[in-house]
Amino acid sequence: MSVEIRGKLYEGKAKIVYATDKPDLIVQYFKDDATAFNAQKRGTIVGKGVINNRMSARMFELLERRGVPTHYVATLSDREMLCRRLDIIKIEVIVRNVVAGSLAKRTGLEEGVVNAQPVLEFYYKSDALGDPMINDEHVRLLGLATPKEVAWIRRSALRVNSVLRPHMARRHLTLVDFKLEFGRAGRRLMLGDEISPDTCRLWDVRTKERLDKDRFRRDMGGVEEAYQEVYRRLIGA
Ligand code: UDP
Repeated sequence: MSVEIRGKLYEGKAKIVYATDKPDLIVQYFKDDATAFNAQKRGTIVGKGVINNRMSARMFELLERRGVPTHYVATLSDREMLCRRLDIIKIEVIVRNVVAGSLAKRTGLEEGVVNAQPVLEFYYKSDALGDPMINDEHVRLLGLATPKEVAWIRRSALRVNSVLRPHMARRHLTLVDFKLEFGRAGRRLMLGDEISPDTCRLWDVRTKERLDKDRFRRDMGGVEEAYQEVYRRLIGA
């Protein structure tokens, strides 16, 4: 498909979104920029954009095959993904299989404890407020999504988990937790954003070595190498 890239619509922390000559299609450009803690920490992870673009494409293709609609249309280049234009629902959906990060802080459970069932959380996508955790009633209060949409989002997030978790396990990666964003394309809901080591916690199954953005957040070193290792396991050298 040939599309012409037009003006910048939005620049986020890790991606730039461009309009195209087709009103219902946009291009996501994946940068190497990294931020953490609501952009208080900033840096660069060399090669990250390429890895996140390629990994997201592969995960979206897999999910489409397994019945989860996504905004993915095509890979245009190393850093450019053609996507359906979505009206993004301002909810960050987190699915957790293993205790880590804010779940450990919130509950006092130790990082690494395996959840008997996946834990699903909603956060209000608001930089000004620092993405606070919200529940269904807050979603309704703020008018972020209808109850029907919330039910669909829940089902889809769990479906994504049930596809990705075993897929990654076969590649010796534990899918500890991840963040999803959904949006509306006309009357259809679909998965948007990206699926990458920026948005997933991925641990080596055996050693529990962290192979994701926590290496950057926690100044652990070996950040680029970790992203490359995830790429190698999921996409191949
Ligand atoms: N996450 C994300 N973007 C955010 C917040 C979280 O992609 O703005 C991902 C994060 O990479 C992890 C999961 O969501 O895979 C859960 O993050 P958590 O709530 O533990 O936040 P943290 O303690 O990392 O701030």
